[in-house]
Amino acid sequence: MEVGGVSNFCCSGSHSADLGAQYITATSSYAQSHHRFYSEPLSAGVLQPLDSLVEGLKYKDGNKDYMTPLGMGSMVKHFLSESGADLFFERHVTGLYRRGASWEVQWKAGGSEMFDAVVLTMPAPQILQLQGDVGHVLSVHQKQQLEGVEYSSRFAVALFFPPDSINGPGRGPSLVVHTSVPFGLKHLERDKEDVQPIILQELNKLLPGLPQPISIKCQKWRYSQVLTSVPDCPGHMTILHQPPLVCAGDSFVHSNFDGCVKSALSVLSVLKASL
Ligand SMILES: Cc1cc2nc3c(=O)[nH]c(=O)nc-3n(C[C@H](O)[C@H](O)[C@H](O)COP(=O)(O)OP(=O)(O)OC[C@H]3O[C@@H](n4cnc5c(N)ncnc54)[C@H](O)[C@@H]3O)c2cc1C
Repeated sequence: MEVGGVSNFCCSGSHSADLGAQYITATSSYAQSHHRFYSEPLSAGVLQPLDSLVEGLKYKDGNKDYMTPLGMGSMVKHFLSESGADLFFERHVTGLYRRGASWEVQWKAGGSEMFDAVVLTMPAPQILQLQGDVGHVLSVHQKQQLEGVEYSSRFAVALFFPPDSINGPGRGPSLVVHTSVPFGLKHLERDKEDVQPIILQELNKLLPGLPQPISIKCQKWRYSQVLTSVPDCPGHMTILHQPPLVCAGDSFVHSNFDGCVKSALSVLSVLKASL
């Protein structure tokens, strides 16, 4: 069990905490090759150097750690707002159908829309679950590569404390617990409501005397971090050239911020060439 990610920022008067990624580590090599993906959010105040000591972290020479005062989602929002793209959220994709020079994308809530190109960034096991033509256009080799991707699973619990319980007046602190990989595997098929008490019991042994939280949120990450990516970490996989259907995300690299940037850059080069 990892206890960390103590974050006490608030949104609209309520507490917030990241249940997924907690901080970003740039190796010296990525700090150079992905320089602008660090310098831009640093100057916008979205990213800040992490100055405090992270106990138990294996420090490597040249590595630099960063944190996001407004949560990890603020990094994503920063880059999306810079892109100028029109964004539509809460569209759960259930199927993709090839219609001439376009892709028809169907939503869980009903309805569909036509696209000139599609980039899928969900974990590889979820790409394989899509209905429609994805399975038909994947080559046998590509299907085997996607089937070979393995993720670890984790539970995360956030505890929110009242303002004056630990830090004195002001915003209340929060505390995030991540379970270990073996724990995630053992309890994967259980409901998070059943697993939360086990995690809290263990936490109270580790940190006896914790004040009573005012609220608790538990999250099950079935696809947490990539254990086995697509061989040679290509960053993306082109399933079809025309109309373009490209898969990307951490299944095709490694699970951290620089993995996401590497994947995004590789997709960009494919799309630029084909559109
Ligand atoms: C618990 C945890 C802790 C982590 N800690 C760190 C850390 O400290 N530092 C770090 O750098 N990285 C960390 N990571 C890894 C990092 O979060 C991932 O590498 C990164 O989020 C991968 O980005 P992605 O866009 O490839 O995939 P994801 O972030 O997984 O995004 C995929 C998206 O696809 C959506 N999706 C899935 N299926 C569908 C569908 N059918 N229709 C529509 N949308 C769909 C999902 O809802 C999700 O939003 C952590 C991850 C976890 C889970």
